[in-house]
Amino acid sequence: MDYDVLIIGAGPGGIFSAYELAKLKPGLKIAVFESGNPLEKRKCPIDGDKVKSCIGCKPCSIMNGFGGAGAFSDGKYNITNQFGGTLYEYIGKNKAIELMKYVDDINMSHGGKGTKLYSTANTEIKKLCLQNDLHLLDASVRHLGTDVNYIVLGQLFAELKDKVDFYFLSPVEHVRMIDGGYKVELKDASYTGEKCIISAGRSGSKWMETVCSELEIPTKSNRVDIGVRVELPAAVFSHLTDELYESKIVYRTAKYGDLVRTFCMNPKGAVVNENTNGIVTVNGHSYEDPEKQTENTNFALLVAKHFSQPFKDSNGYGESIAKLSNMLGGGVIVQRFGDLITGHRSTPSRISEAFITPTLNATPGDLSLVMPKRILDGIIEMIYKLDKIAPGTANDDTLLYGVEVKFYNMEVEIDENLETLHKGLFIIGDGSGITHSLSHASASGVHVARVICGA
Ligand SMILES: Cc1cc2nc3c(=O)[nH]c(=O)nc-3n(C[C@H](O)[C@H](O)[C@H](O)COP(=O)(O)OP(=O)(O)OC[C@H]3O[C@@H](n4cnc5c(N)ncnc54)[C@H](O)[C@@H]3O)c2cc1C
Repeated sequence: MDYDVLIIGAGPGGIFSAYELAKLKPGLKIAVFESGNPLEKRKCPIDGDKVKSCIGCKPCSIMNGFGGAGAFSDGKYNITNQFGGTLYEYIGKNKAIELMKYVDDINMSHGGKGTKLYSTANTEIKKLCLQNDLHLLDASVRHLGTDVNYIVLGQLFAELKDKVDFYFLSPVEHVRMIDGGYKVELKDASYTGEKCIISAGRSGSKWMETVCSELEIPTKSNRVDIGVRVELPAAVFSHLTDELYESKIVYRTAKYGDLVRTFCMNPKGAVVNENTNGIVTVNGHSYEDPEKQTENTNFALLVAKHFSQPFKDSNGYGESIAKLSNMLGGGVIVQRFGDLITGHRSTPSRISEAFITPTLNATPGDLSLVMPKRILDGIIEMIYKLDKIAPGTANDDTLLYGVEVKFYNMEVEIDENLETLHKGLFIIGDGSGITHSLSHASASGVHVARVICGA
């Protein structure tokens, strides 16, 4: 065997597996294969000047490379079992929290020290939400910020680079079972190892389908979240964001009984494009450094859509809606809430006359031509509800960017060790379908490393 452990993907899942393996058994031969670039070479060409929107680079510097999809994220590590994945269903609630705290400790000792840990415990905001039929989920949130997150990743790489062989710009094409282990096949080379950990994330979701079909690993897929990103003056949400930084608020709509929730809140942040397999959707982030902060806060409002038999392609459904917005707007569409309510398309002049300056250069348009009525109705209901706890949310100038889609990877059949039916083959992180966040993906990496080392 060339290696003891082969790791596919250098996102949080892959990084934390490598970190824990190297820590527990310093002599182990570990290889990490990554489609994208090393951290310092990850540069998205969008500069708002020469390149204004996504030009579909391959690999995409936002989604691929050391640090994975989270490298330029807001670096919010939510320590909770209430959202961010269902890791606890596999490893138990206490262990999941313990691992997330352990990851937090590592981040703190690698450049994150001094960043703030927020908590929803004992907050009056919870009561205010309940009084308005809104439900605030419990969590501790470590906010690293895009800048500190980058520093932490840099320090983790510096520590790992002499202990682990990194292969960048090296997409794995196939994973084969061989006698006593596994072989990963790249375009021009192949490597063998006794154990194999796959942590291919969201960008590797299509490839994971191939792997699971080639290795006959059972999967299921039935969920997608669709919605918009809301951008408003930071002052409107400041009483929530100052105390909690991120508040995950859930509401059940009166009209359809659907669940709508706030997601990925970025105080004084910026709205950004996200490219998933060539489809441009919207996301957001913010910086810890006050100099880089904006005057706006953004967050997503998502409606969870579960499908039952016979429909299986929930991601395909989400992609089709995102494609529609790309078709009409050439990318992401932005609309004033007031225009949406009165049935008008937002125009460049209406956007420029608004009392808020958009942080993303999106195409003014009409989201009602893109989003299914049921989803849009849910979002509008939620905006009016949020207006009760944060007056100003339903102002005419509130900006809605669409569409935001949260694709869920198909769920892969794995056991409590996160091991597939093939001994020694582990699937972790967002690619397994059981995590959807930095903290859960990282914790899953630590967990498999401990399983492999018998710790
Ligand atoms: C803009 C943005 C902001 C976000 N903000 C937050 C946040 O604040 N908090 C939060 O909890 N989560 C956030 N997320 C989600 C978070 O980034 C992911 O949940 C997390 O990165 C998942 O980690 P992972 O290791 O499972 O996968 P990823 O981070 O996606 O890493 C997988 C890696 O595998 C590589 N790969 C895929 N296929 C192959 C292959 N065949 N061969 C070799 N390499 C391959 C990819 O290039 C990628 O680098 C954000 C995501 C985005 C895009």
